[in-house]
Amino acid sequence: MGIFIERRCSCCGNLYRYEEYPSYISFCPSCKRDGFFESCYTENGIMPCRIYLGEDIIGEVTSVTETSYIIISDKFDIHERIEASSNPYLEAMDMLLYMIKEPNKVMRLKEKLKRQFLRENQEMHISDNDSLNMVFIQAIVEVMKRVYDKEMEKTERTLEKTFFGNVTDMNNNRTYESDKQKLKRDLKSIEKFRYAEGQKIEELSDVFPDELKCLKKETDELKSNFESNHYNISRQNSYEITIFDKLGICKKILNKQISSVKKVSNSKFKELYKEYDDHFKSIIKRASSSDISDDDYLFMLFDFFNFEDKFSLELVYSIADYAVKNDISDDVFDRAKYLYVSHLRSPKGITCMNRSFFLRKQYIQFLLKCNDYQFIYRLHKYIIYLELVFILKQYLITDKMIEEIPLSERVLFLKEKYNLLGEFNKDKEWNPKMIRIARKIFDRWSGKEAIW
Ligand SMILES: [Zn+2]
Repeated sequence: MGIFIERRCSCCGNLYRYEEYPSYISFCPSCKRDGFFESCYTENGIMPCRIYLGEDIIGEVTSVTETSYIIISDKFDIHERIEASSNPYLEAMDMLLYMIKEPNKVMRLKEKLKRQFLRENQEMHISDNDSLNMVFIQAIVEVMKRVYDKEMEKTERTLEKTFFGNVTDMNNNRTYESDKQKLKRDLKSIEKFRYAEGQKIEELSDVFPDELKCLKKETDELKSNFESNHYNISRQNSYEITIFDKLGICKKILNKQISSVKKVSNSKFKELYKEYDDHFKSIIKRASSSDISDDDYLFMLFDFFNFEDKFSLELVYSIADYAVKNDISDDVFDRAKYLYVSHLRSPKGITCMNRSFFLRKQYIQFLLKCNDYQFIYRLHKYIIYLELVFILKQYLITDKMIEEIPLSERVLFLKEKYNLLGEFNKDKEWNPKMIRIARKIFDRWSGKEAIW
């Protein structure tokens, strides 16, 4: 046993102790702050430096060359080399402080990846930390969804066996035969919808053949399933189909009737939106009850994620609301198309999916309330963020990283940092002006790609 040093925390006054060592960083075990360090430099860099949390050694910093260091912490799964460091003590302290204070493993993963990314891409000069966090969180959520979809069991059955358990449960007042006819019609309209998506994917696959292969495979499978009356569909897919069936607005958007006042009057428009509102309000109520299981929460969250990704009814409302309240002129309003379209092509020629609700919503104001010069600058930034989500998701964040984190922690992260269900606007108030704008969005930009 070595000699122990006592130290009074400069933040909370707690007295704590740890073993004496020539070079160390110490954190208070009580408030997890303090961050005191004793430096010891040699001609080759620093003496190996211990990192303490109270008495526990939680990591170590060692020199590799005079200016490069390795920070290791098994506890937080860190093994990082820092090149051209100006102060390894401060850098290690900064990194560990975040890890100690943040209880959630997903957030710690985000921070670790963000640091790594920023160090390797210093030329990017991203100074907007909030947006960057949003981008990293979005990429992580999309990988979580990838893992979730992969893990969700798929059953290979005939149409009747696949759906009728579910459909009759939900509509048990209807007869089997009328359910079946209805379902067949709905499947047809979704087939159309998915097929349109499939074509999009085909175009995209020239740019990113590998990444989109899995998506394309899914579409192809679905197409051949329809032809053979054989389905390979998850619980989420089949639920999604019943929602398409239930919410009239979906079909009105898909067959482009929503933009015509003759086909959908203003009061009908409100009625359709209300039907959608009521449906998700009840979902959200269930999702926010205290006894909801992690599985059910994920199911509901990703269900809403999918729905908003396809139809963007929340985003459309937000855009219409903002445009009317701020009296946005028609040509300026046109800028909002970059937020609505399903995918964008970046200046580098990369095609990116536009599915970060939080980023999109934040940019409504950024893009609509500025002059032309600022607009170009902001749009450029926005597209770079979308590109980044894509790159992170495909090349940096692996399924394994997510799978190693317990499901309960993933769900907690989603509830606290990606509360998409909380973004649902429960009290929409439409007026004729707003409806006109919403129709314009569906009419002009639905199913289109925007090119920078
Ligand atoms: Zn303290």
